Formats: sequence, C-alpha cells, structure tokens
Amino acid sequence: MIKLPGLIDPHVHLREPGATHKEDWDSGTSAALAGGVTMVLAMPNTKPPIFDLPTLDLVLAAAHTKARCDYAQFLGAGPDNALIAASLASRSAGLKMYLDSTFGELRLDDMTLWQEHFKRWPKHLPIVAHSESRSMAAVILMAAIYDRPVHIAHISLKEEILLIKAAKERGIKVTCEVCPHHLFLSRDDIPGISQGHPGRGEVRPRLATREDVAALWENLEVIDCFATDHAPHTLAEKDGDNPPPGFPGLETILPLLLTAVSSGRLTLDDLILRMMTNPRKIFHLPEQPETWVEVDEKSSYEIHAAEMHSRCGWTPFEGWQVKGRVQRVVLRGKEAFLDGKILVNPGFGHNIRV
Ligand SMILES: [Zn+2]
Repeated sequence: MIKLPGLIDPHVHLREPGATHKEDWDSGTSAALAGGVTMVLAMPNTKPPIFDLPTLDLVLAAAHTKARCDYAQFLGAGPDNALIAASLASRSAGLKMYLDSTFGELRLDDMTLWQEHFKRWPKHLPIVAHSESRSMAAVILMAAIYDRPVHIAHISLKEEILLIKAAKERGIKVTCEVCPHHLFLSRDDIPGISQGHPGRGEVRPRLATREDVAALWENLEVIDCFATDHAPHTLAEKDGDNPPPGFPGLETILPLLLTAVSSGRLTLDDLILRMMTNPRKIFHLPEQPETWVEVDEKSSYEIHAAEMHSRCGWTPFEGWQVKGRVQRVVLRGKEAFLDGKILVNPGFGHNIRV
C-alpha cells in the first residue's frame, strides 16, 4: 500500500448548470474522489457560461449543496467582461480563455479582446488558455508583453511542447498541463476506441500522432501538471449525429499514471509534483490538511465504465489492464472513499476560494 497526498485536477467540466444529464457537481466530485482527486477546478463553459456575478453565484450555489470534494470555479473570458471578471478574480479558480474554437458567449475573435483580459486580470492569479499550435504561440507572446503568468491547457503536440520549452528557457512565465489521453493514446487508437462509432474518438485537442506522444514523454520536465480535461458526454450523444468532443478522465488518470510508474516510465515523485505540488503553486491553492489517498500499487485490474461514478457511462480506456487501485481517500480528516464507495455527503466539499 502506498500513501499519496490528495491530488488536484485543475481542469474538469462538471456540466452544471445546464447539462446535468451528462454530469453534475455530485456525480463529478464523486468521480473525483473515486479517482484519488480531492480538489477540482471547474471550467466555465456551462449553460449559461460563468462570466459575471449572477452566473458565478448560480454555479457556486449548486457546488455548495452538491460537491463532495473541494473545488474552485473558473470564470470565462468573454468579449466584454474584462472589468467585471477582474473584479471577481479572488472568488474564482482563474480566468479561462477559449482562443481556438468559437465558443458561444465566450468567443474572443480578436486579439485586442485578449489584451483587455491580459491587462486587467490580477497578475498573481492564473490565466488559462485553450490555445492550440499557432494561437498558443500568440498567447505566449501576450504573456511576454504583459509580463504575467499564463497556463496552457491540454497541450498535445510536439511543436507545442518544444515551443513552451524554449519560452521557459527565455524566462517567459508559461506553464502547461497534459492530459492522460494525450500521453497514452494516439490517433492510431481511434478505431479501437470508436468500435464503429466515430464520435467516441472525438476530443479537443484531437488525439495526435505517435511522434507527438513520444515528444511529450521525452520532454516530461517541461510538463507542469497532469490534468484530466474530464469532459463527460453520454454514449447516446457520442454515438449520435453530431457527436460532441470530449472524454471523461477523473477515474482513470491515477491508475493510468500508476501503471506508467510500475513500468518505469514515470516516478511517483514525477506524479506527485504534477498532480499536487505544481498545481498548488500555479493556482495558489491552499493545503488540504489531513488529506491523503491510499493506493494498492500491486492490484491489477481492467478498467470498466460500469464501475465508475461519472454519469456519462463510458470511457475511452474500457478494458485496459492497469496496475494501481485507489482503496481509500481521507479528506480533511474524514474518510471520503473506501473500497469503491463514496462515504461523504453532497455539500462536504469546500470552495477553496472562500
Ligand atoms: Zn476542457
């Protein structure tokens, strides 16, 4: 048995408000605890998106009554909310900017709109950018111009990790995260995941080439955090006509990484640095006293969505053989998870920004 600190996932989509048939604050934070994650930072692209005081109050009210692990909520950067967002910064996990896909009300077509947020958002709190390839380069330039930190979400490409490496060497304040699905899957795995339903392989950023995957592993020292980008959708939606992109990940991140530890691709220290120490530093998160995760590192088993707590009911890692099982989670002195069962009630989770 090994004892890990409570893990932090700085990138989850809990779907509430607006799409609670996929997930909500209860099922999503239950999935977190079952995965050894004791703190989640929730993304703002809900329905409605979280971008001002009424929408922030709305999501925090749901979280307050339903969350079972600790949490904070991101604000979304919209075309005209730079002032109001900055005024709410201390109540939020950080500011999320969607710079690639057009994203409803959180759409930022024009780089002058990015600049408003870079100027106003407090420097000690992070801006997180969904920005791929060349737009990632533009965001790193923005961080250099305004001399402030920026955190790049879910990088997946060789060109991205090499550019971040070069930017770090120049002293630019950039950090980044990588998702397990970009470390353990390439586009060659899409047929196996799809099982005849192409929508199941859809995720953003897309699964990359084997060369990209190899570059992430070769440049592990450049990766600051492991994050799930837990993005649950039901199988009916994934298999439907207009399949939404996204994979669930909260209940598979730790077994996948522990399997990599057992095969010598990673050390436990590498894992703890990227799932606790670094996210705590980057996002200025408080310590969680008397909080730990007990793992049976020798337990081998197959991943099955049927045993999971997420409401979405599927995983791209179905049937994978992994080594390392979460047995027990203690959160702030209370037994929160034991042998597959959640033992804390909805509302036990604390908003760490209060
Ligand atoms: Zn995301």
